[in-house]
Amino acid sequence: MKSKRFVIALIKHETNTFSPIATPLSAFGHGNGPSYGKDALAAFAGSNTPFAAFLDIARREGAAAVTPVAAESWPSNAATRATFETLLQPLEAAVRAGCDACFLDLHGAMVVEGCDDAEGEILRRLRRINPDLPIAVSFDYHTNLSPDIVANASVITGYKTYPHVDMYEAGLLAGDILARSLRGQVRPVMAWGWLPLVSSIMRHAPEDGPSGDILAYARAMEKSGRVLAATLLPGFAHADTPYTGVSAVVVADALADNQAQAAAQEVCERMLAIAWERRAEYAFQPEPLAQAVARARTLGASAQAGPVLLIDHCDNCGSGGTQDVMLVVEEILRQNLDDVAIAPIRDPEAVAQMVEAGIGANVNLLLGGKTDMPSIGLAGRPLRISGRVRNITDGEIVFTGPMYTGLKSHLGRTAVLDTGRAQIVVTERHHEPFDLVIFRHCGIEPTKKRYLMLKSRIHYRAGFKPIAAHIVECAGAGVTNADLSVYRYRKLARPIYPLDAI
Ligand SMILES: [Zn+2]
Repeated sequence: MKSKRFVIALIKHETNTFSPIATPLSAFGHGNGPSYGKDALAAFAGSNTPFAAFLDIARREGAAAVTPVAAESWPSNAATRATFETLLQPLEAAVRAGCDACFLDLHGAMVVEGCDDAEGEILRRLRRINPDLPIAVSFDYHTNLSPDIVANASVITGYKTYPHVDMYEAGLLAGDILARSLRGQVRPVMAWGWLPLVSSIMRHAPEDGPSGDILAYARAMEKSGRVLAATLLPGFAHADTPYTGVSAVVVADALADNQAQAAAQEVCERMLAIAWERRAEYAFQPEPLAQAVARARTLGASAQAGPVLLIDHCDNCGSGGTQDVMLVVEEILRQNLDDVAIAPIRDPEAVAQMVEAGIGANVNLLLGGKTDMPSIGLAGRPLRISGRVRNITDGEIVFTGPMYTGLKSHLGRTAVLDTGRAQIVVTERHHEPFDLVIFRHCGIEPTKKRYLMLKSRIHYRAGFKPIAAHIVECAGAGVTNADLSVYRYRKLARPIYPLDAI
């Protein structure tokens, strides 16, 4: 018997339409460009990703795995049409060459030039090539679900954790359902729904807002066997699209249950009903910056075990931030916090100056603040700072987990500026700090510091929450501001909560 052919691909970009950061082709692969063919397979095999789960499903099923493209970028503004076509063409070619099923590892909040729903476009195009193609998709938690996505996919799942530490499991669930449907063991049907609700990412973690109870219900429904997969997608507020909102999608088995469609619908509606009833809990209430830093200072003075984390969440490159807004750093220095490590400020110019000066040299720099943010009316403002160059690295890191465990990543050249009170990790490339390796690779032991300032919103919790004595969220400025009133939305479906009274 001829072995099956599975096309497995990864195209991922969380698009912050307010970000001033462009998304060239080289951004995919975190600066190194996309991987194609065998390189794509080699880059992601064995990692904690849906892509790796799909590879394992192919092996289990005795199918040939065809991996035309794997491309993931840090969040930034919309890619051009040409970049998008470069990513999509190898995938289309692989499907056109003939295959039994397609397994996609997508983000769900990708916007490209002239298209607010890039994932919908990917699925439409594949369907056009093969109208009967079984397609499984695993999405990020921050998906803005569109009608075209659901209409053109056979099975949809998504992460149930934030920080996202279950990427592999989400892929395994989607892939397994599709593989079993190919064997005639299940017949997946889907129901979905969408709410006019823009939720703050700062309230997305299961322990913070309504998501925890919705996810617990979804897991219980899956475990009971009533449905095959139940997925909550709280959305991505920084993509200004007509699809931005909170949604849910549920897969049930029409082979085992002739009421499967109704069961999927009922579970989906229940999940969304919880979100809507508790919608006020999805709004974030920030504490004034000076007050937050002063509170952190007091906590640090008495903390016995582990550092106090100061979370600079309005400038998180993991959601499209420039990673060079200096407001929180400035306040930390102004209030004289001592024994602080900060990571990372992105500033290639400052790195070049420190590399030029060399380890041990004293430098005086204009640090950060190199990027303007016209969409929110904010100009870049560098911070004049003096210190000693303590270390310089090539910024090549391997994640120790629990997020992306085993994957390599690239900070670009990295330098540590030591001001006496603070050690500041400055990088050439964007990188969210969610793994202790961001400090350890350049000689800073994060568990030994009194304070850590992190340019992150929630993902820092993966690596840093276990070592923290206290956590203080610091509202600085930037294009990941939790205050939605700073954004001039043009494409959102209106009315929408909490921007409108509904
Ligand atoms: Zn996400």
